[in-house]
Amino acid sequence: MAIELLSEQVIDQIKAGEVVDSPSGLLKELIENSLDAKATHLYIEIENLGLKKISITDNGHGMDEQDLQKAFLRHSTSKIQNYQDLNQLSSFGFRGEALASISAVSRLKCISKQKDRAAHLVEIHGSELVHPITLSQQFPSEHGTTMIITDLFYKTPARYEFLQNDRSELNNLKKILTSYCLIYPQLHIEVLWDKEKRDLFGPCQDTQQRIEKLTQKKSFIMQKADYEQMNACLIINPQAHQQKKIQQIIIDQRPIDNKKIHYLLQQVLAPLWQQGTSDYCLKIHMPPHLYDINVHPKKTEIKFQEATHVYALISGLAKLLLQNHSDIVKSQQNFAPDLKDSPSQHLHSLSLYSDNINQHGLFAKKGNFLIYTYQEKIFLLNLTRYFQSLLQKTQEVIPLLISDPIELKSNFANYQKRLMEFGFEIDAINAQHGLLRSIPKTLAQFDYLLILKELINRDCKVEKIDFNTLIAKLSISDLIHSTELSDESMINLSMEINIDHLQKLEREN
Ligand code: ADP
Ligand code: MG
Repeated sequence: MAIELLSEQVIDQIKAGEVVDSPSGLLKELIENSLDAKATHLYIEIENLGLKKISITDNGHGMDEQDLQKAFLRHSTSKIQNYQDLNQLSSFGFRGEALASISAVSRLKCISKQKDRAAHLVEIHGSELVHPITLSQQFPSEHGTTMIITDLFYKTPARYEFLQNDRSELNNLKKILTSYCLIYPQLHIEVLWDKEKRDLFGPCQDTQQRIEKLTQKKSFIMQKADYEQMNACLIINPQAHQQKKIQQIIIDQRPIDNKKIHYLLQQVLAPLWQQGTSDYCLKIHMPPHLYDINVHPKKTEIKFQEATHVYALISGLAKLLLQNHSDIVKSQQNFAPDLKDSPSQHLHSLSLYSDNINQHGLFAKKGNFLIYTYQEKIFLLNLTRYFQSLLQKTQEVIPLLISDPIELKSNFANYQKRLMEFGFEIDAINAQHGLLRSIPKTLAQFDYLLILKELINRDCKVEKIDFNTLIAKLSISDLIHSTELSDESMINLSMEINIDHLQKLEREN
């Protein structure tokens, strides 16, 4: 096929996949636009999980005729003018892509009105202007915008394939609504599902009242704390329960997915939530230079400049909440263990020198040891022993696409076979040099060249290898990613320790 430039329309259809890959993605963009327009009321209609129709009427500042002309062009935004503005962003949108993308893959009708001005209407089907901007007679309020999106993906039916099942799509839509309810407790949202079922989220005083209304449970407890330039507020339901939970992390008004924070909360709040987890909303404000929210519009992931500070703040905050509500904590417990001796109380101190948490617990490295928590117990793993055991496993090998040159000792022929057994396959080029062809899979994540050098220098005697340099250089995340904690061998090699041991270790290192 000859090379052709894609038409704007096709580009928009491709781009649309990045911005709106699902009805919930579309809903998110529309809500954010309304909020950016300072709306306080949103009236939303959703039909057939958003595939047939999503419409939203807001009472924001609206658009005039000129704005309407530009709003659906790609990279048209009223929110930033130059690159610097990106660092002081206070709006949700800024890429000016959502409306162009949405109108490329659906039938879109927009009516908008600014205060003391006439309302205007425009209609675009699959990027084509089917109804140029005209005056519109009716608009329900003094100012605001109505966006009606129907037949989502009618131009790109392949998109349907990527949608999740109905139940997940419905959950995703509900999740978006919940997020923005919690971000703006004062926001008034009304949703009409399939022309019949109505959800009304009336304005609330604050986040606590909002989450209580959303979950229909009273008696949430709240704690605030500041640390460095961050301030945080945690609101939780002290009662652990099984049903569907609202668990929302909000950073600077943005809904965030962050498993680490979730597990950290779960760990620290374990004395309270002995039987699992419960509803919570965690809100943190911090200066924008302290984090990097992936600028892909769909992404809700965040990277922190100083993750340790953020985790320290969160675990400190949750701990404070436990302290200040010790009566509830006690009453939730069948027996009353001394909190000082609960491992989870000590987890946060580990998190101060480690920002490594996975679903199994917390990890920290101290000298030649890895300390980790697993099922509320603390384990100590001697890393030298760990690497010895990795070498001694029967090896699956990974061939190297690009061979590393290796310096050989003169008696290479004597240990070549032994190295093979470890998974290091080397072809000698001459007496002093060889090419590394394959490596043991268990060591792929690590500095395998360092280990190989040691093996060669110590005549393949594993017990003589000095792993200290390797361990010193090792980051915990390498370790976590290379091994699953559920890996029996790792647990078997580890020793369970108690808090006294841990404190002793902390003093010694
Ligand atoms: P972005 O939000 O990134 O600027 P969009 O494509 O979502 O880009 O929107 C383009 C522009 O259209 C916005 O910058 C804004 O000026 C205008 N706009 C979109 N939705 C609304 C709305 N509900 N009320 C007022 N203006 C809107
Ligand atoms: Mg937008």
